Amino acid sequence: VPISNIRNFCIIAHIDHGKSTLADKLLQLTGTVQMREMKEQFLDNMDLERERGITIKLQAARMRYVLDNEPYCLNLIDTPGHVDFSYEVSRSLAACEGALLVVDASQGVEAQTLANVYLALENNLEIIPVLNKIDLPGAEPDRIAQEIEEIIGLDCSNAIHCSAKEGIGITEILNAIITRIPPPKDTSESPMRALIFDSYYDPYRGVIVYFRVVDGNIKKGDRIYFIASGKDYYADEIGVLSPNQMQVNELYAGEVGYLSASIRSVADARVGDTITQFGRRAESSLPGYEEATPMVFCGLFPVDADQFPELRDALEKLQLNDAALKFEPETSSAMGFGFRCGFLGLLHMEIVQERLEREYNLTLITTAPSVVYRVNCMDGKTIECSNPSLLPEPGKRKSIEEPFVKIEMLTPKEYIGSLMELGQERRGEFKEMNYITQNRASLVYHLPLAEMVGDFFDQLKSRTKGYASMEYSFVGYRESDLVKLDVQINGEPVEPLSTIVHKDKAYAVGRALTQKLKELIPRQMFKIPIQACIGTKVIASESLSAIRKDVLSKCYGGDISRKKKLLKKQAEGKKRMKAVGKVDVPQEAFMAVLRLE
Ligand code: GDP
Ligand code: MG
Repeated sequence: VPISNIRNFCIIAHIDHGKSTLADKLLQLTGTVQMREMKEQFLDNMDLERERGITIKLQAARMRYVLDNEPYCLNLIDTPGHVDFSYEVSRSLAACEGALLVVDASQGVEAQTLANVYLALENNLEIIPVLNKIDLPGAEPDRIAQEIEEIIGLDCSNAIHCSAKEGIGITEILNAIITRIPPPKDTSESPMRALIFDSYYDPYRGVIVYFRVVDGNIKKGDRIYFIASGKDYYADEIGVLSPNQMQVNELYAGEVGYLSASIRSVADARVGDTITQFGRRAESSLPGYEEATPMVFCGLFPVDADQFPELRDALEKLQLNDAALKFEPETSSAMGFGFRCGFLGLLHMEIVQERLEREYNLTLITTAPSVVYRVNCMDGKTIECSNPSLLPEPGKRKSIEEPFVKIEMLTPKEYIGSLMELGQERRGEFKEMNYITQNRASLVYHLPLAEMVGDFFDQLKSRTKGYASMEYSFVGYRESDLVKLDVQINGEPVEPLSTIVHKDKAYAVGRALTQKLKELIPRQMFKIPIQACIGTKVIASESLSAIRKDVLSKCYGGDISRKKKLLKKQAEGKKRMKAVGKVDVPQEAFMAVLRLE
């Protein structure tokens, strides 16, 4: 089709507002995916994603649609639905001219809705409001339309009422995509520039790159050059996504497609990088490229020391597919050999851990996540520290800076008080509060990222009966009065339990942590002291009394199946223990610091 008949769009929504369901319906109605090959939610195709009901990796699909006898080509570019991946969201938005803004008509605007809309507006996208779930008895599309107008300032007079689930309003949406979203600009004569909005590693073909041709054109066999990574390749295969890969010989400005070029790692073809022709290079790259910066770090240690080489192999393989994952070897006397790994955020961290265990059959101990501190040392140097146990001693450091985030929480007004308490408890600095409607408010705080790592989101949900939502973004580093809290178990320092806390909280954290560890560490045949220290000063101390009886004696005379169960439980418990000196420390103990009351 001519470029004037191409539309590139994405769907933005708060989690659960119906993005995937709508995408499925669009694919179905355009005949892109037949009913019988339709697995539920075609676009979320990673197991993990499906289980969690979230979209992690974006993908694309090309649809054909005829309106008034004109054939159109509609490219849907899916965006990940989590703040950890907001950079990827912004790159996929940059590959589009328009966006469907899906809002659940029974819920209204949520924090993620706002964050995504801002990204879309920054990228100058034409936004089509879609009020979804109108089949629900509690749906109030007109009220929600007004809410969107008030909060976002978006004209909702022609918002589309839709039920993705029931298939209502889908044709109207397709028509609106064609009539309201502009076609790409025709720059097919310019030197080629294409924006990478996704890439993944295929063990047989190497990296598959998803891109949007912004200028010029690309042919099969072309020698191409990646501006940010500085690598060049031959495009062995190019094609479109319909939504399965289909080879073509050429792609023009405005089109969306994939290429494979025997690229060995996604680090060479990063999201946001610009592809150009090796022989006829574009003068400048497309705007917006950023290196992925890990925001949280944790230690990963195999329970069984023999699994160290397998862990390294697994991390290397995952990295081929995940340019944001960072890792380096870490050893500690308590834990043995492992890796210090860096992640974009907490979800990213969980995903990697889970994949390592599921896909590579590793049993790991994960230490509590830490943010990256900046330490200004006496010798004038500034070092980055992402491992609390390696924080320079007080005599060597002048000051410590920690990353701060701006967080926006949307909540029904009755919970404003509890969220303000939460903000306060987490060293938050109140910035502003606005009523976005009569009943809902937006609260903005600046707070240390370290205070969000852990149970902040759970707290937000539990203190508002699940009604509040939030988004955050990094704002910068700030000096704080921080100290390092170390833990000794049975007289031995356990480095992975070290944590960096604000001075005012150190005593309370020390007390709560030692108490919690006492609950979590199984009793042994001898008494175990558990201590929290700052430097050489013990600030809290507990002691775990000895146990003499075997676990089985509990059901002495009991029936055999109960005994078996207990033994099994004990064995499962063992899997997740790390022997630290003579003491077995369970996985939960390493995370205890995140969940102190
Ligand atoms: P996403 O997180 O934005 O991708 O949302 P999903 O498409 O996964 O939908 C979240 C939930 O809402 C699922 O249980 C869907 O079945 C349901 N859902 C989606 N659209 C509709 C709709 O139009 N009506 C109703 N009643 N439920 C819907
Ligand atoms: Mg989804």
